[in-house]
Amino acid sequence: MLHNLHSATANLSRCIAARIRLTMSPMKTLMRFNTWLRERFGCRAQRVALHTGLSCPVRDGTLATGGCIYCNNLAFNRGAAEPPLPLAVQLREGMSAARRRYKAQQFIAYFQTYTATHGPIAAVSAQWEEALAQPGVVGLAVGARPDTLPPPVVEFLARLAERTMVWIEIGVQSTHDNSLQWMERGHDWPAARQALRNCRDAGLLVAAHMILGLPGENTSAARDSGARLAEAGIHGVKLHHLHAVRGTKLGELYLASRWLPVTAGEYADQAAALLGELADGTVVLRLSGDCLPELLLAPEWGTDKQQVEQMIVDRLSAASVTLR
Ligand code: SF4
Repeated sequence: MLHNLHSATANLSRCIAARIRLTMSPMKTLMRFNTWLRERFGCRAQRVALHTGLSCPVRDGTLATGGCIYCNNLAFNRGAAEPPLPLAVQLREGMSAARRRYKAQQFIAYFQTYTATHGPIAAVSAQWEEALAQPGVVGLAVGARPDTLPPPVVEFLARLAERTMVWIEIGVQSTHDNSLQWMERGHDWPAARQALRNCRDAGLLVAAHMILGLPGENTSAARDSGARLAEAGIHGVKLHHLHAVRGTKLGELYLASRWLPVTAGEYADQAAALLGELADGTVVLRLSGDCLPELLLAPEWGTDKQQVEQMIVDRLSAASVTLR
């Protein structure tokens, strides 16, 4: 009888200890893009940003001409104002810089500026094939809007994905329709959700580009967005804080004192809330946005990316989420 009691107590203790270990150990792990690439390719792989000369539906008159309220492609790519150099030249120069700076050994052709799927399928697919033909290029990352992914484009990318790595980065920006209207995006959340699902079902690696710090969105709204993205089955997420850039409508609002950015702490709260909802193993392609210093109006805290990242990591850690 005494023996049985000791044995039951020992079992209970082991059970409690296991529970404590479970509670104390991280419950979810998200992966930095660099970690994910290193595990896939076994070396440092780096994206090389390319400028294709394509426009987008809210600039070229397809839907509108004014562009999204926050957008100035020059803020992250000086070359976007000029006619593009041949892709082979852009890639050669970009790969050479990435070799010097990051000791990168393999490269991903990153179709970043404007909307890389907004053109005749023959023309855009020829660009992707040309990039993949360059020695050292091991995959593609293609930036798109939800409304520029018709079946022929998705099917073409899916065929490429059978022989190489293909990430499609879809500009979702928010899952809240009032925010999408305020940003003058020209699409709603259901359209974005459908595009995410279509691309995922076709076998592409799908990343959602999201903006946080939007007027009227708080931590709870960010959490909702994270849950909706997880439900749509994304593989990766790219976060950007809303900032005012010269040459944009938001920049004018800021200069007229009609818009103020959130604080770094508020942004970190929202970022951690969104990330905390994503599935285990989701890839984090970026934690905050970039802007050329000469074009940035506000907020200044965005220039200290390391500090912003640490603030997000600390909050994730407090919620038992690891970013490795
Ligand atoms: S964010 Fe994209 S869709 Fe909006 S104006 Fe800029 S390039 Fe066009």
